[in-house]
Amino acid sequence: MRILIAEDEPAMAALLQQGLSEENHTVSLAADGPTAVEFARSYEFDAIVLDVMLPKLDGFEVARLLRAAHCQAPILMLTARDANPDITRGLDAGADDYLTKPFAFSVLLARLRAITRRAQAPVAAVLRIADLELNPASQQVHRAGRPVLLTATEYRLLETLMRRAGRVLPRAAIIDAVWGSERFVEDNTLDAFISLLRGKIDRGSRRRLIHTARGVGYILEARTARTTGPGPEMYP
Ligand code: CA
Repeated sequence: MRILIAEDEPAMAALLQQGLSEENHTVSLAADGPTAVEFARSYEFDAIVLDVMLPKLDGFEVARLLRAAHCQAPILMLTARDANPDITRGLDAGADDYLTKPFAFSVLLARLRAITRRAQAPVAAVLRIADLELNPASQQVHRAGRPVLLTATEYRLLETLMRRAGRVLPRAAIIDAVWGSERFVEDNTLDAFISLLRGKIDRGSRRRLIHTARGVGYILEARTARTTGPGPEMYP
């Protein structure tokens, strides 16, 4: 496997590099946050070992930026001992698993095997909500069996909503996931894209899937008649 190690402590970095190389993995080393982001966005890695405490940009930020940039490589986060809030924060930022320092090297190898196995399965999995279907492998979308042609941005927006179906997504989180956090995108732009997407996904269908969470953002879900809530839905 090709593995990126983001770790600033030279002794720990050397230990990881040597151990993983001996297991026949190809290892790249990043000693600070921005370098880790640059490497992960420029090259394909099978896994990323990401230390939380990194100079310039910490592990949480690195994970968040990579996920926002659609980097799919599984991330194993290294945290300090007994840092429970850290663990939650790390998983929330997009890490797949964590390991508390100090750790046995055999445990690190086992965790890496586990997250890379897990990562292989869902990548090609087709997303389905009611009669809406999105295939990440072919990037094709179907509603009620009919193909839906989307632009690249509309596709990313739909995938973002479908991957978190049933949960209200705040505008900022959607913008972050679709355009990346470094781009400045106005709420109006998001609303315009949602409107375009609705036209292609929901128009002509008896069951609408893209709903407005007023004052917050959007949610994609298949609602039954009983759970649509009070009153007609407001379109922006
Ligand atoms: Ca460190």
